[in-house]
Parts: sequence; C-alpha cells; structure tokens
Amino acid sequence: MLIGSGFDLHRLRASKKGALKLAGINIPAPYVVLAHSDGDLLFHAFSDALASALGDGDIGAAFPPGIKKTRGMDSRRMLDHFLKKLKERSLILSNISVVLTVEKPRLNFYRDDIRRSLASATGLPLERVGLTIKTFEGIEPLAPKAIMCWVNCLIGERASF
Ligand code: MG
Repeated sequence: MLIGSGFDLHRLRASKKGALKLAGINIPAPYVVLAHSDGDLLFHAFSDALASALGDGDIGAAFPPGIKKTRGMDSRRMLDHFLKKLKERSLILSNISVVLTVEKPRLNFYRDDIRRSLASATGLPLERVGLTIKTFEGIEPLAPKAIMCWVNCLIGERASF
C-alpha cells in the first residue's frame, strides 16, 4: 500500500456575491477564493496527496502558478493528470479522507454533493470517500480570511473492495 498526504490553503476576499468551488461543486459564499487557477483547493490537496504517494513532485511542479497556461484552469484537469498516472502504474485508489476547515458557509449541507463528486471523479464507492467539516472556532485572522483542506489517501496494487 502507498499513502498520500496533501494540504492546501487559500486566502479569501469578502464579496457579497461570492462563491466557493469544492471538488467541482459551486457553493454560494460571502467571499471569493483568491487563486491563480479556479481555486478548487480540495482538488489541489487531493492532487498533491496523489503526487506524494507516487513520489512524483507536486501540483506546483506539474501546473506552475503564475503562468498563462494555468490561469483560471479547471482544477479537475489537474486531478485527472495525477489519476491518469495512477492508472499508468496499475495502481488503484482505495479510499480518500478529507478534512475541510472554513468558517462560513456551513458546509454540512453540501457534504454529500462533495463526496458524490469525489466518488464520481475517482470511481470509488461513496463509503470510501470521507469528508470531515470543521471551523476555525472564530479564531482570527484565519476564521474570516482563509480556507484549508487536508487530504489523505491509500493506494493499492489492486482493488480492495
Ligand atoms: Mg491551491
């Protein structure tokens, strides 16, 4: 088995008509996520977890920020790049465990949409996609200004489900 671990953190800027994108799911939010790409930090952290398990650089090496090619890029393309590498090595994802930390909005309502999206992107059964939702407990300055995501995954040589 291989273990992968990934983390991402983005700044938020207050916006009355803001939105958040998590695993491709658009969620209304009182801010926008500052990012060079589309800012889908769950896909970023997941991509880094896969890259780490593969011993193959990281998302920044494969998709450098600050260049025209990656500006506004759909982060699903980044994830698919690393999922393809898994297949090329005949490796199979066993499960994903995600922790998201953000103050607002309360994401519990979106938990299953996000999990379903991850299951669809990876081909995993839904019960192999875990999502824990936390807040910063009001601790400033992170509480109003940041969103964080951790992803751990296990990868095997063949399907274990
Ligand atoms: Mg990122």
